[in-house]
Amino acid sequence: MPEMFSDAVLDWFDRHGRKDLPWQQDMTPYRVWVSEIMLQQTQVSTVIPYYQRFMQALPSVEALAAAPADEVLHLWTGLGYYSRARNLHKTAKLVVEQYAGEFPRSAERLAELPGIGQSTAGAIASLSMGARAPILDGNVKRVLARFDAVPGWPGERPVQLRLWELAERYTPRQRVADYTQAMMDLGATLCTRSKPSCLLCPLQSACKARQLGTPTAFPQARPRKAIPVRSCLMPLAVDPRGAVWLERRPDSGLWGGLWCPPQLDDDTELDEWLAGRGWKRGEVAPLDPLRHTFSHFHLDIRPVLVRVDPGAGVAEAGQVWYNLRKPTRLGLAAPVKVLLERAQRHLHPDSEVSHVPHGDVSQI
Ligand code: SF4
Repeated sequence: MPEMFSDAVLDWFDRHGRKDLPWQQDMTPYRVWVSEIMLQQTQVSTVIPYYQRFMQALPSVEALAAAPADEVLHLWTGLGYYSRARNLHKTAKLVVEQYAGEFPRSAERLAELPGIGQSTAGAIASLSMGARAPILDGNVKRVLARFDAVPGWPGERPVQLRLWELAERYTPRQRVADYTQAMMDLGATLCTRSKPSCLLCPLQSACKARQLGTPTAFPQARPRKAIPVRSCLMPLAVDPRGAVWLERRPDSGLWGGLWCPPQLDDDTELDEWLAGRGWKRGEVAPLDPLRHTFSHFHLDIRPVLVRVDPGAGVAEAGQVWYNLRKPTRLGLAAPVKVLLERAQRHLHPDSEVSHVPHGDVSQI
């Protein structure tokens, strides 16, 4: 049975698998690793331009290790889930300092590095080193859960263990790189979340979920919980030149290491914050509110544009007057990019928005 499974998948891959993705060319551990991290929670079509820019700017693990944190976060701006970028940077430094720039050669050792889970380690080891290492990303989980009609939500430990067992069982000894790519492709293109194309699927004759007639019932969805709503006031303090005040967030926590306006509770806190800086509150203009959804809560942001005159005071480390017309390369959280666009439109209704380095905005 395991051979029948992998033969069918490989045969399908030879005829229909994707072979021209940027990270499928010159498959080094570095290139595969960066692509795998970008592809977590993000679709292939979104990742491609980010990946190409990233590789152009930082073509090797040494280049990434030597890059300033702000440059790495800047290249990530718009991709979301910024802890991925911070871990990428941390791991690059570790690989250069402790492994002389060579990635460890086994999935087990790879999984010890920051930000590399068991499945990503399996993908790096199998795709770039040809090692027999199973993977279990979201796509593969879906295919396996359906093929064997595995009940339960994969976030639960016993379900996850069962899926790992299946992943291990079906991974072949030969052509592991092709098989890994094929399983990811199969989940992304045929065995999709809501409309699986079972009639085109190489596994259709033995797939239990298909036999039951309920493929989309597997894997079971996460039990629903209401997400709480929090709210905040975000002042975009603007100096007489039209620059906006941003502060670098602490490395840990929400938007860690990214540049944001202060996050305050209410108007009273705004007065206190301005007084604390020694700034007089000038004209205040509300901007359109914005809801940003994190995995565990919604954040309702109430942005206000506040004219201030900071006098001769200068920004210290971790603070910046952000020039909207000539932006510095900084890592910005996705909603902050939106707020800066709104601020620029408010301040210069006729001008082009210039500070957004890459077009789209994703979660977080
Ligand atoms: S037959 Fe359908 S449900 Fe089963 S693995 Fe293929 S696409 Fe998925």
